[in-house]
Amino acid sequence: MQDSGDPIARGTKRPIVRLLREYAWRYRWSYLAGGFFLWVTNYITVSIPLQIGHAIDALRSGQDLTRFVGLIAVMGVSVIIVRSLSRVLIFNPGRHVEYHLRKDLFAHLLRLQPSFYATSKRGDIVSRASNDVTWVRTLVGFGGLQIVNVTLAVVLTVWKMLTLSPRLTALALLPILLGSAVVQFGIRRLFHLARRSQEQLGEISEHVLGSLQGMAAIQGFVAEEAFVERFEARNRDWLRIGIKLALIRSIALPLLVLSGGISMAVLIGMGGSMVLSGAITVGELAAFTALLTVFLPPLRSMGWMMSVIQRGRAALERIFELMDAPVERPEGERGVVAEAGHGPLIEIDGLNFAYPDEPGRPVLEEISVTLEPGSVVGLFGRTGSGKSTLLRLLARLYNPPPGSIRVDGHDLTTLDLASWRRRLAAVPQRPFLFSDTIEANIALEGDADEERVRRAIRLAALEGDIEVLPTGLKTVVGERGIMLSGGQRQRAALARGLYRNSDLLILDDVLSAVDHHTESTLVETVADLARHRDGPTVLISSHRLSALRKCDTILVLEGGRLVDSGPHAELVRRPGLYRDVWRVQSQAAAAEDEVAS
Ligand code: ATP
Ligand code: MG
Repeated sequence: MQDSGDPIARGTKRPIVRLLREYAWRYRWSYLAGGFFLWVTNYITVSIPLQIGHAIDALRSGQDLTRFVGLIAVMGVSVIIVRSLSRVLIFNPGRHVEYHLRKDLFAHLLRLQPSFYATSKRGDIVSRASNDVTWVRTLVGFGGLQIVNVTLAVVLTVWKMLTLSPRLTALALLPILLGSAVVQFGIRRLFHLARRSQEQLGEISEHVLGSLQGMAAIQGFVAEEAFVERFEARNRDWLRIGIKLALIRSIALPLLVLSGGISMAVLIGMGGSMVLSGAITVGELAAFTALLTVFLPPLRSMGWMMSVIQRGRAALERIFELMDAPVERPEGERGVVAEAGHGPLIEIDGLNFAYPDEPGRPVLEEISVTLEPGSVVGLFGRTGSGKSTLLRLLARLYNPPPGSIRVDGHDLTTLDLASWRRRLAAVPQRPFLFSDTIEANIALEGDADEERVRRAIRLAALEGDIEVLPTGLKTVVGERGIMLSGGQRQRAALARGLYRNSDLLILDDVLSAVDHHTESTLVETVADLARHRDGPTVLISSHRLSALRKCDTILVLEGGRLVDSGPHAELVRRPGLYRDVWRVQSQAAAAEDEVAS
């Protein structure tokens, strides 16, 4: 697992502001109401100490206390009710923000092209979509609540303290201010460590995912130890950073608590002499002390809050980076929607192409050819000659250079991507089956229509194989179709292509794992489809010429260039790659038939 160029650009401008604008703003009323209730809670909380102060002074002057006791009790109960209300009003939007963020992220992932996935790390993406999103929920829910709460508590207590004695307030708060200033230093460091820690979590996921997928290779080549070691290295790194993060937090908290303690000492020392000199009453000093006690818990949660904010900010940055990965759609949001329902005319003119990650190495060069509507076109060439690449360009999995491929007269890059893809059925060389039933794998885009599924299976010569399976079409094929043989998997993918009534059927080497006879039947079937009125244009690539023999025309690729084209009968008469390969392959096929009979 080496590092390849990461397609996700680093850094997002002011992620928290963006979150507030794009996701949290729509819940502003809920937040506002929650904020109001928090204010009420805090207001009552800071008023209680003043009532206690009055009560003490009243006690000293021998007055009746019932009124104060009743008032304080009512205040206490109200605080509980109003606080619960504020929590609901602030936490719920946090969950909604998380939901929308996850939804948008997944939708964006589905829009990104193969060029993105070729170079990005899956583990990293999974980690951003799961761990990081969870951190953001903590930030907007819990974090949001605490920020408002602490700010209100601090402002209100300080204000109440100031009304009692400005001098005492200044003296009492000085140690706390100093302590907070020191803690601020740790915050920047916390952000970078949080970011690093989240990245490492992504690397760990990547390693686990990759190992799970390649388990057969790991075990088959007895590479378990090497993989465990590589995993250990990442795991240890993650532990180290986690410990550093915890260290910063655990230094910050006692520092804040200590400064609170010093404040209390200052208050009692200085306040005592002020009472003696008659500057304030005993009740006022008691109220002041109680106020400081109210002030200390929010102060303590500040260390924790800081870490939530920094972690959330780092997570947000990673989420927005992924959401900003560009979707390369040259046609913009709305492209040309060409008329569907018939095989398209495809004109390729001077097509040159290199993969985006290796722009210096041309894979296709100067290809010019016209594919007639409803024709069956074969694509032949040695391995690496560019067959799959040409087919990928037609399916627009990669964007061809503008002007080089035209479909029914429209430039392919100006066509609306979704409606173009809806017109085609492309079966790739390495098909992917989901861990689902065969039926669901064939009818990928919606509810399965059993009649159509059966027809597709018959056409793909898969009927016999399905019959022997325990639950037929409802058989679950396991992760990546692991329960099927290579040839069965190929034909299941072919059935998926045939299930959809497409205008352009692209079959990239899908018959390599079937025997000669099945191959001939399959080619016949597909050619029959094309020969119907308004039948699809069909493109079949193969190394095996027997599979292409029946095509209307065959394109011969060599090193990314189109070196010859024509029907089989013509090509075997001309000297060249096609004729050479034909001679070798037809002899081998004859020998194979002999053995089989
Ligand atoms: P095969 O018969 O083995 O399937 P092919 O004719 O389909 O071969 P392509 O898959 O089109 O050949 O590959 C053509 C060239 O492009 C090869 O040299 C290959 O290394 C390169 N190539 C293929 N896919 C990519 C990719 N995603 N990124 C970069 N280069 C690629
Ligand atoms: Mg190929």
